[in-house]
Amino acid sequence: MSSAQHRVVIVGGSFAGVNAAYQLKRKLGDRVSVDVISADEAFIFMPSIPWVMMGWREPGRLSVPLARPLGAKGINFVHDRATAIDSAAHTVTTAGGRTLPYDNLVLATGADLDWSNVPGSDPAEGTVHTCFTIEQAVTARAAIRRFLALPRGRAIVGANPGASCIGPAYELIMMLETELRRQKRRHLFDLHLVTPEPFIGHFGVNGIGDVQNMMESEFRSRHLGWTVDAALKGVEPGKATLGDGSEMEFDLALLIPAFFGAQVVRDTESLGNPRGFIPTDQHLRSTAFPEIYAAGVSVAMAPPVPTPVPVGVPKTGHMSEEMAVRAATNIAADLGEGEHVDGLTLPATCIADAGDTAFYIKADPFLPPRNVAVLRKGKWAHYMKGAFERYYLEKIKRDLPSSHFGW
Ligand SMILES: Cc1cc2nc3c(=O)[nH]c(=O)nc-3n(C[C@H](O)[C@H](O)[C@H](O)COP(=O)(O)OP(=O)(O)OC[C@H]3O[C@@H](n4cnc5c(N)ncnc54)[C@H](O)[C@@H]3O)c2cc1C
Repeated sequence: MSSAQHRVVIVGGSFAGVNAAYQLKRKLGDRVSVDVISADEAFIFMPSIPWVMMGWREPGRLSVPLARPLGAKGINFVHDRATAIDSAAHTVTTAGGRTLPYDNLVLATGADLDWSNVPGSDPAEGTVHTCFTIEQAVTARAAIRRFLALPRGRAIVGANPGASCIGPAYELIMMLETELRRQKRRHLFDLHLVTPEPFIGHFGVNGIGDVQNMMESEFRSRHLGWTVDAALKGVEPGKATLGDGSEMEFDLALLIPAFFGAQVVRDTESLGNPRGFIPTDQHLRSTAFPEIYAAGVSVAMAPPVPTPVPVGVPKTGHMSEEMAVRAATNIAADLGEGEHVDGLTLPATCIADAGDTAFYIKADPFLPPRNVAVLRKGKWAHYMKGAFERYYLEKIKRDLPSSHFGW
């Protein structure tokens, strides 16, 4: 490394971290040295995790080990966990004992799962299953297989109060319904969505276009039940209790928890808000430390409207990539390369898969009021999502140009 190089350390090797690293190299080339520290050795294409849970995808197909593709672009990959940020000395320390100095730090650390507000719901206790890692997906896949083999069954699928990434619950309940219908055993099963959202299709963004009607109609057609404003209070084997004291019995529970910020952010004084998310200015620069940027799920965003039961704002894969590219663009602009860009007014494209069909959703900006709100349903969207998975894994391997046709 030349001493004149600007040193950027990125923590996180997922949608935000990898895209920030590639954009920095694109913009600044040899003027910048980039270290990506990630607790995960490989990038995982998370939008396909529900397919793994259903047994429709092999997990190995969704991962890209990061050392080689990043190395090919002159980016140093550090497979380790960042344990401390010294915001005065401008260093990051890892569990493996390394200390990396930075001129700019990009935090792309996503979130940690917070099961504490619903006792008994932590998948580690064995009652509930979830969808954030390949390991969780493989365990859930076995549970789903056992469920589908029952003579009759009841599933609750949904989210704990405060959850923000609720879309996969919709996908999973419709995929379960599709699978049972294909097996001609749908009439033997009760499938129910339990969500803190005030209406189905709220998705933490107060809905998009007329998605509420579209989702209600879809759920009615599929004979899926739903409970909104649900404040799950506790889970025990076979039974969930809601805030109003009502109880729901189940043979399978798939739940999405609330998030809090990553441990290393929560451990750094003044960096995060009380939930550990990073407040930033419009350029994605930390409001506490000007040399620190944030991108993706780690960024603090306030809900557009209050809801009776708390619902968080989702930061989708598309949004996380956009934020990463814009944070890196702004670091380059700080160095005199190009203009600063708005990192918080973002578009979001998403395909919610339903097993035998899918919903294409496009919102710009992602929070209302919007200039663009598009909703389309069709089998074509289901195939588009599969094609997008293959494109995106290649994009991570080879830094292909960005395209958002199939989020
Ligand atoms: C089941 C599921 C389905 C989804 N489907 C869609 C979809 O269809 N469309 C869509 O747009 N979005 C979807 N999403 C959301 C999408 O996956 C997220 O928006 C995206 O993963 C966020 O990327 P990120 O880089 O901000 O954070 P994350 O993906 O959470 O990654 C955080 C990274 O930081 C690393 N890290 C954290 N702390 C440390 C530390 N201390 N040291 C080192 N590394 C650390 C982690 O190991 C990880 O690599 C889905 C999510 C899930 C779970």
